[in-house]
Amino acid sequence: MKDLEPQAANIGKFDNKFTTADGSVRASVALNDPQTLWFNTGTLCNITCAHCYIDSSPTNDALVYLTTAEVETYLDQIAERGWPVREIGFTGGEPFMNPDMIDMARLALARGFDVLVLTNAMRPMMRTGMRAGLQELQARFGDRLTLRISLDHADQELHDEERGPGSFAQTLKGMDWLRDAGIRMAVAGRSLWDKTDSETRADFAALFAQRGYAIDADDPAQCVIFPEMDLSAEVPEITTACWDILDKSPSEVMCASSRMVVKRKGANRPTVLACTLLAYEPEFELGETLAEAEVDVHLNHPHCAKFCVLGGASCSA
Ligand code: SF4
Ligand code: SF4
Repeated sequence: MKDLEPQAANIGKFDNKFTTADGSVRASVALNDPQTLWFNTGTLCNITCAHCYIDSSPTNDALVYLTTAEVETYLDQIAERGWPVREIGFTGGEPFMNPDMIDMARLALARGFDVLVLTNAMRPMMRTGMRAGLQELQARFGDRLTLRISLDHADQELHDEERGPGSFAQTLKGMDWLRDAGIRMAVAGRSLWDKTDSETRADFAALFAQRGYAIDADDPAQCVIFPEMDLSAEVPEITTACWDILDKSPSEVMCASSRMVVKRKGANRPTVLACTLLAYEPEFELGETLAEAEVDVHLNHPHCAKFCVLGGASCSA
């Protein structure tokens, strides 16, 4: 997997969990307010995007399907540990490839959590059984269920350049269905192209108005524009001094408020990772239980610097 290869621009850095290349103390982040528990439902996806951060595809099953019973054990642990979680997130791969997707969402909603499902809204979501399940969840739980649709850009050509010909039309078909079913939607776009944030949002606003989607393109929670992860770029290591220099608090970083559960192919049980961004990095695997996942996370990866501390991205809505 791509995350495991050291990048030439960063040779000598990110070698030691506790200290940086110049011997400074590496920054770490405590789990001080766990608000979101993510479940990776499996890495299989119906498409192969050019820049998928987790290398999903129709053949990548490095992370296998989670089951409802496995999700239930973690929802029990949230209660046992007294974590103040308000939201359960499901990501993949394409979550609607997982046959348990509706059951897992129903379980989390019935326990009182808000549920966020990240999807491309294509054929897996549009299967008859999934649509029936989504309608049932909407009728029972209303706006506590949100589907966040990966729509890279409001321009069909740019979206299809990333996801393949015809994918924009398929995703809009899925979004039209969600609109008509009254299911709450958000959108996740990307900043791959030479456009400013406000230009990208203006393009989305025009599309949402034209299609009648109740999504506010100017609200970063409803329309997330992700920064890109350039794996070849040179990035600085983050030391404990950086927080003051950047006027940033460790509590603003995603691993202060969330964890992700995955199940690796061949494993007997799921395991808990520091965040959604480093699914294949052994150092960011914290243990099988939420209790084990309460440890501090040392920011020993280029993504920590580029994507989180300097780029300010969060996967949660
Ligand atoms: S739809 Fe999402 S999970 Fe699937 S390949 Fe594209 S970016 Fe990856
Ligand atoms: S990539 Fe970001 S969220 Fe993940 S461990 Fe690093 S700093 Fe934390």
